[in-house]
Amino acid sequence: MDPEDRDLGQNYWKGKILQFYKDKTKNETWATIHWLYNFVDLEAINIITDDMSPQVPFAMGKYELLMSNHVGVIGAGGIEGHLDVIELDDSKAISPKIHPSAWFRRWTMEIQKDGKSFKVHDLKPTCICHMLYSPRFDRQRLCTKCMIWYHEQCLQRVSTPQPPSEDEEESQLLGVPVVRGLWGKEDEWGVVGWADKVALMRRWFWELGSFPDDYSTVLGEDWIEHVLSREWAFYICPNCRNAC
Ligand SMILES: [Zn+2]
Ligand SMILES: [Zn+2]
Repeated sequence: MDPEDRDLGQNYWKGKILQFYKDKTKNETWATIHWLYNFVDLEAINIITDDMSPQVPFAMGKYELLMSNHVGVIGAGGIEGHLDVIELDDSKAISPKIHPSAWFRRWTMEIQKDGKSFKVHDLKPTCICHMLYSPRFDRQRLCTKCMIWYHEQCLQRVSTPQPPSEDEEESQLLGVPVVRGLWGKEDEWGVVGWADKVALMRRWFWELGSFPDDYSTVLGEDWIEHVLSREWAFYICPNCRNAC
């Protein structure tokens, strides 16, 4: 599906095609699929409550899908198009960028023997609270030493929000923390954070001693403007005691 048409995906049912088969007598083609669920779909089903699964509807992103093993049979003529779904492992520090209206998935959902309830697999708790990361409702900090994501509200704050220093831009940018989730702007760093940019800036600094001439193009003017116009507070990593 064209990137500009991604929003269209919101109005379609989504599934992963398993197999096509042809009914020769009626000259019709059918497909078996595994249905994909979004957070709205989850309100209508029963998620079993013996583990972290109850957190799932809250933790799912606006454009997140759950792969289920719920099989459907549809007429091939009803298939409107192809949708890219990005795989995200949210326990990693660095993940591929996700456009704010691109679809992604982290988890799978298994229909139970009763045919009505579901169990969600592959859930990875984050932070000291062992809760799932919700891109819609949480803001998390990355400790770039431990590579662990924490909810800001679970951490002890060590500074009040400060405007950027009067230093030159390189130093200001090197001092920006790594944040993901709810931070007031929907963009391609919203879900995954910008650990890749911080890693790149540190490599420039250690290997070259300064940033390359085209650094603002490489990092993105939008991103630079956004992070330098904010006031950042810092927190203590409960694992290594570094500021993050
Ligand atoms: Zn937490
Ligand atoms: Zn740490």
